[in-house]
Amino acid sequence: MGRLLVIATVLVATTAACGVSPMGRRQLLLLSDDAVDQQGTALYAQYKRDVPITKSTRDQKYVTCVTKAIAAEVSEGDIPDSWEVNTFEDDTPNAFAIPGGKIGVHTGLLDVTDNADQLAAVLGHEVAHVLARHSNERASASQATNVVLAGAQASGYVDPQLMNVFGMGAQYGVILPYSRTHESEADLMGLDLMARAGFDPRQAVVFWDNMDEAAAQSGGQAPPEILSTHPGSATRKKDLNDRMPHALELYEQARAQGKKPRCTR
Ligand SMILES: [Zn+2]
Repeated sequence: MGRLLVIATVLVATTAACGVSPMGRRQLLLLSDDAVDQQGTALYAQYKRDVPITKSTRDQKYVTCVTKAIAAEVSEGDIPDSWEVNTFEDDTPNAFAIPGGKIGVHTGLLDVTDNADQLAAVLGHEVAHVLARHSNERASASQATNVVLAGAQASGYVDPQLMNVFGMGAQYGVILPYSRTHESEADLMGLDLMARAGFDPRQAVVFWDNMDEAAAQSGGQAPPEILSTHPGSATRKKDLNDRMPHALELYEQARAQGKKPRCTR
């Protein structure tokens, strides 16, 4: 009886630990969605205590408009289609989306995005990290991080390393880049997502051109999350362009359905 029970337990554990990303890649997921969502929510609360929210209602409205359009295309299991979004007063061109349905955009990002389509490209990418459960995968891959996670849960103390797992570390002076695999996945999923929301996917590539320029000029600034791996923007742009015909189809369909978000800063 004992042996049967062990086999059954191992089967259950294995089933719980394995997942498949929306792009069809096998994943090791050791944490429950609830646990990750709770951590994300706690980290976001900490972030709001540490970083001032902009007083510009114009910027808040603009970012909320783009977020709502993107979020309307997100429906997968228990991942929420309503997200809390805030624009933080910070000159670094950063943004993040974290489990629990939380989004942060820095005012510095608004200065390097020319239009709502480009902001949608960034938010699509960040939301894709959440949809693909990349935080869970990162935490699962690191035994050290699991210990930190447990400690944070027990004490309420938020370790910068934990912020890192959720892609929020730049504010705290530490950056744990997403892997190239995660970045590529987020790029392609994000492109589809923005296109389905009615944003012009071609602007994602224009945004990358802008970021290349900004990165060349920034010297020493904390790089935005999406630049943190330096996978080579030429490769990224090529991959985006390879998927562009598909994204443009989604875009045309969205526009035909009347999805024409009018978000202006
Ligand atoms: Zn990313």
